[in-house]
Amino acid sequence: MNYTELAPEYIRAIAPYQPGKPISEVARELGIPEADIIKLASNENPLGCGEAAKAAMRRALDEVHLYPDGAAFELKAALAKKWGVAMESIVIGNGSNDLLDYLAMAYLAPGVSAVYSQHCFAVYPITVLARGAAGIKVPARAYGNDLDAMAAAIRADTRMVFIANPNNPTGTFTPYAEIHAFLKRVPASVIVVLDEAYNDFLPPELRVDTVAWLREFPNLVLTRTFCKIYGLAGLRVGYMLGHPQVCDMVNRVRAPFNVNSIAQAAAVAALGDEDFVRRTYENNRAGMQQLVEGFRALGLDYIPSYGNFVTVDVGDGPRVFNALLKRGVIVRPIVGYELPRHVRVTIGLPHENARFLASLKEALAEVRA
Ligand SMILES: *Cc1c(COP(=O)(O)O)cnc(C)c1O
Repeated sequence: MNYTELAPEYIRAIAPYQPGKPISEVARELGIPEADIIKLASNENPLGCGEAAKAAMRRALDEVHLYPDGAAFELKAALAKKWGVAMESIVIGNGSNDLLDYLAMAYLAPGVSAVYSQHCFAVYPITVLARGAAGIKVPARAYGNDLDAMAAAIRADTRMVFIANPNNPTGTFTPYAEIHAFLKRVPASVIVVLDEAYNDFLPPELRVDTVAWLREFPNLVLTRTFCKIYGLAGLRVGYMLGHPQVCDMVNRVRAPFNVNSIAQAAAVAALGDEDFVRRTYENNRAGMQQLVEGFRALGLDYIPSYGNFVTVDVGDGPRVFNALLKRGVIVRPIVGYELPRHVRVTIGLPHENARFLASLKEALAEVRA
């Protein structure tokens, strides 16, 4: 029996997700201590997570023999208060990735389609193809979402559009006025998933209260995560805000206990830890400056980024990735995103950024030799 061929053709068409290499794996492969390796590959929070979240996790340990609250009441109540929405408009996910999958499960099927951009987050095509739906990939404009082309790509059978803002892996930002104009054009029968995994990293002058748009656009869904600015990537927790009927459909396909109790407790505590969020934001801003200046000094083109990472043109992404790896620095090659010349680097602590830049200079010299 061939177990590859047994799977539906649309599953076999999925390109596997390529995660960032874990530190432990690189340490084993290179035979060097884990402490000598820095990972700037997965947009993780270089400050770790906040003390309030850690304390909440410790308290939650005493109840791990109990199933978590499948309705995530406390976390939803905290989010409802923070954003001024009804609890019926919130669903909690095992990472926001989980919610993207549930949205696809609820609304996509063979015979319908979904629209996303070239260079988009890899999860969009995976989750669309996994439902047997057609994925419509729209060429990017200046590495980002081309909303005019995406609106034009919507067909009669289109049920969903994915827009990450800022986008990963390119870090591009689509002005909110353009997104608002796009939402006005899109038929109400098309669900627009606005993925805001990185919106906490936007400078204050660019921010817009997209939660207020939910009243204007019943087909709008916002997804957000605790994995980035809150530093809880290992726990997997995120949320979506949307129309109660959309949330109801998502809840019907949701695994009953999709978010574990430690993650729920940590997320509630993290939400209230504004100091940690501010420190993360400040570190990111300073680190972005440090990296960009380093790229300029090395004569490298980079894509101006609004996230907690930068994507830079190094000529040959995979070779520079390997040359950096040998030096104990893990970044992300993004060939799979149709960016073979670039690598994506997550902003770290000042000494990590400095080490990355010094290693990059050596790696470029090695690859160009
Ligand atoms: C990191 C990221 C997410 C968040 O994923 P989680 O499942 O919450 O870890 C969502 N969208 C984009 C574009 C991301 O880069």
